[in-house]
Amino acid sequence: MAAIQTLGDLRQSGYRSRPVKQEIRDNLVRKLQAGEALFPGIIGYDETVIPQLVNAVLSRHNFILLGLRGQAKSRILRGLADLLDDQIPVVPGCEIHDDPLAPLCASCRSRIATEGDTLPIGWLRRDERYVEKLATPDVTIADMVGDIDPIKAAQAGLNLSDELTMHYGLLPRANRGIFAINELPDLAGKIQVGLFNILQEGDVQIKGYPVRLRLDLLLVFTANPEDYTARGKIITPLKDRIGSEIRTHYPATRGNAMAITKQEAWTDRAGALKTEIPAYVREVVEEIAFQARSDRKVDKRSGVSQRLPISTLELVVSNAERRALANGEALVVPRITDVYAALPSITGKFELEYEGELRGAEQIARDLIRSAVGSVFSGMFEGVDTRTVIEWFDLGGSLPLSDSSSADEVITRTHGVQGLRELTARAGAAPGAAAPAVASAVDFILEGLYAQKKISRSEERGYSAADVAPRQRPRREEPSLDEEIRMPAGKKKYYN
Ligand SMILES: [Zn+2]
Repeated sequence: MAAIQTLGDLRQSGYRSRPVKQEIRDNLVRKLQAGEALFPGIIGYDETVIPQLVNAVLSRHNFILLGLRGQAKSRILRGLADLLDDQIPVVPGCEIHDDPLAPLCASCRSRIATEGDTLPIGWLRRDERYVEKLATPDVTIADMVGDIDPIKAAQAGLNLSDELTMHYGLLPRANRGIFAINELPDLAGKIQVGLFNILQEGDVQIKGYPVRLRLDLLLVFTANPEDYTARGKIITPLKDRIGSEIRTHYPATRGNAMAITKQEAWTDRAGALKTEIPAYVREVVEEIAFQARSDRKVDKRSGVSQRLPISTLELVVSNAERRALANGEALVVPRITDVYAALPSITGKFELEYEGELRGAEQIARDLIRSAVGSVFSGMFEGVDTRTVIEWFDLGGSLPLSDSSSADEVITRTHGVQGLRELTARAGAAPGAAAPAVASAVDFILEGLYAQKKISRSEERGYSAADVAPRQRPRREEPSLDEEIRMPAGKKKYYN
């Protein structure tokens, strides 16, 4: 391609330009024949979304992805750019990337008429051919399609309906590429009509003047399913022109969800500290999202994005890093306690139903973490006898610990709790494991028993004691003040 520098070269090379949907189809067919991976980085859609996507592309459809937030919709659309040719020839300087072999605009046509085969050719890379726009109600026809410039027309002595008088909007500038519109229902009806006209007729009305623009585009959209199906949100003729509606979904299994989070979360942080994230921490972080998606206090319509576990895991690692740095530890091993410190990444990631609002986002988040811990702990410790540990507490034992307690401190303080160390092996901290890993496993068991309401964790962070009848039990000695360890936000907790 580098050898092709003029229109003459291009003609001689036998290059054939294709409509963009045909080009994408051809490249997809080639990838399928070669058995290449499609949409790398998209996890858990192999049996559901991807086959439908492939069919839509093979059918040369404009299509829409319907799904809740954080279901990788934008990522899929951006991945379509990989199906474009590496580069395509264009008339250099043309705002709508005209094809030198079939120019649309009058100015390119006249250039070709005068310069002929000597016309220089430019090349447009595939990443320059993907345009994305978030729909908002204030997007205008001028933004999207363009505007007529009366001054330009007057100066050139042109009729206003002449395309030369146009100031191009986003759609014409995306000509010969992919144009993605996110949240289509937020687009005003007038703009939807404009889109429809471009799709249907290749022309558009601007300020009453019909302007002809035979654009070559793959148009793709995203929308929340309820907004999309709500009556009156999308004009029927536009809906009619969208070839495929493809539903996206949240990860079906915890395993898929963990793989996505592992891929997306920034946890491999170069530096002096080494980080080891225990499997149960990853599982709990993921389970929070699963719990939230099925919690009736959380609004189903807006969904719970996969970004919740991703940013939560990042904060969990950061809290563990902070502790390791404060205590001079070289190995960072996140604990379940760190998940509670990650509330700032959870509370903003879902919207609440009325009942949830009464309880408050922070309390809901704590409830979700606790039930996530309970679910993961139950799975991992099914059939394991934890009675000796529980008895230690029932006999009046109490443990003041916080998320800033060093690994050695956790191990020392819990040393006398019979049966506890034996259980850590079950959580993956084999005998001889590093102190931070053992401390994390101890923390997981204590948090697990607390989540199962087999031991209680006192006040101040809002956890309620779940003792059978706490008032009837002998009053335990409160830990003396010098034993209290402050939580980061000035909060402490005790297992008892
Ligand atoms: Zn042009």
